[in-house]
Amino acid sequence: RGTMTVGEMAKALHKDASEVIKKLLFLGVMATINQELDLDAIQLLASDYGVEVELKIPVEEDKFEQFEEKDEEEDLMERPPVVTIMGHVDHGKTTLLDAIRKTNVTEGEAGGITQHIGAYQVETHGKKITFLDTPGHEAFTSMRARGAQVTDITIIVVAADDGVMPQTIEAIAHAKAAKVPIIVAVNKIDKPDSNPDRIKQELTEYELVPEEWGGDTIFCNISAKQRIGLENLLDMILLVAEVQEYKANPNKRARGTVIEAELDKGKGPVARVLIQHGTLKVGDSFVAGVCFGRVRAMVNDKGKKLKEAGPSTPVEITGLTEVPQAGDPFLAFEDERKARAIAEKRAITLRQSEMGANSRVTLDDLYKQI
Ligand code: GDP
Ligand code: MG
Repeated sequence: RGTMTVGEMAKALHKDASEVIKKLLFLGVMATINQELDLDAIQLLASDYGVEVELKIPVEEDKFEQFEEKDEEEDLMERPPVVTIMGHVDHGKTTLLDAIRKTNVTEGEAGGITQHIGAYQVETHGKKITFLDTPGHEAFTSMRARGAQVTDITIIVVAADDGVMPQTIEAIAHAKAAKVPIIVAVNKIDKPDSNPDRIKQELTEYELVPEEWGGDTIFCNISAKQRIGLENLLDMILLVAEVQEYKANPNKRARGTVIEAELDKGKGPVARVLIQHGTLKVGDSFVAGVCFGRVRAMVNDKGKKLKEAGPSTPVEITGLTEVPQAGDPFLAFEDERKARAIAEKRAITLRQSEMGANSRVTLDDLYKQI
């Protein structure tokens, strides 16, 4: 899907195209004036200029919102935080995700076969935390670009023996653009040449200042490989969650976001969905993007069959007619016919917009605030 050209972006930023091109080059993107920028580059550029952009693809949103039941303040209940791990390649994201997953298997679930469903939950001090294990950058860019915000907290992993690198900076830019709290995990502290204080020093340049230096960014020294500092990291996540007070109404039809989907040979189309509001139950009809279905079976990340799933729970569901896309909005309906009708209408709208002039994210769709 096309977005904006360099020239259009420069105009939106009130800058010379040449300056923007130079800036892009500095950010590692080679571009000419008529070149279309991807959403990633637009976000990077904007955050570099201190401008906030909100990308809106008109078809995706409004239509869906109107069907959701509104919440009263008293309906809202605490829900687990949803955490994404980002950082430069080889700094230890995958190792950390695996280590956390193993650290913490809740009682009764021990021995369960862990399933890859795009996210998982751990429990510590009686509280749950949801981790997205789809690559952080993808989760951010593709989902945010489609109007879906799935992450509450971002952990930025920086290897203490390497330092701040281009993808570290990019991750910071994304988290800031999404206004998501950042926790810095300084990783690989087991290495003899690691220097955690140097990382802290380097990150002050990006306005991530540790508390002991008068800032408000939480830094955790860890070794994902040796499993050092992981409990503390989980505690810090809970601390942020406590301050932010993440809430949702569990007592309504489910709404969420598709985090992954595929066609399984045996099961047919499967979707891995993060439930964000309400509760999804087996038998519920739903719309996912332009697809619809009825929940036939629901499994969690431990391979356990669920009858229902509440806010912040990642589940794999079967019972779809087609395969939706990552980032697709998900909404349950009481009435199967209604779900089908809405999915079909959305499919038509999407097709029309793809054929028509609306297929590009134009200047009018970029709401910027300085
Ligand atoms: P990713 O690209 O960010 O997902 O990084 P990986 O998790 O794949 O880690 C890259 C390499 O760093 C692997 O060889 C890991 O074993 C190693 N690694 C990750 N965490 C640690 C750590 O805490 N200490 C040490 N010594 N090595 C680590
Ligand atoms: Mg990895």
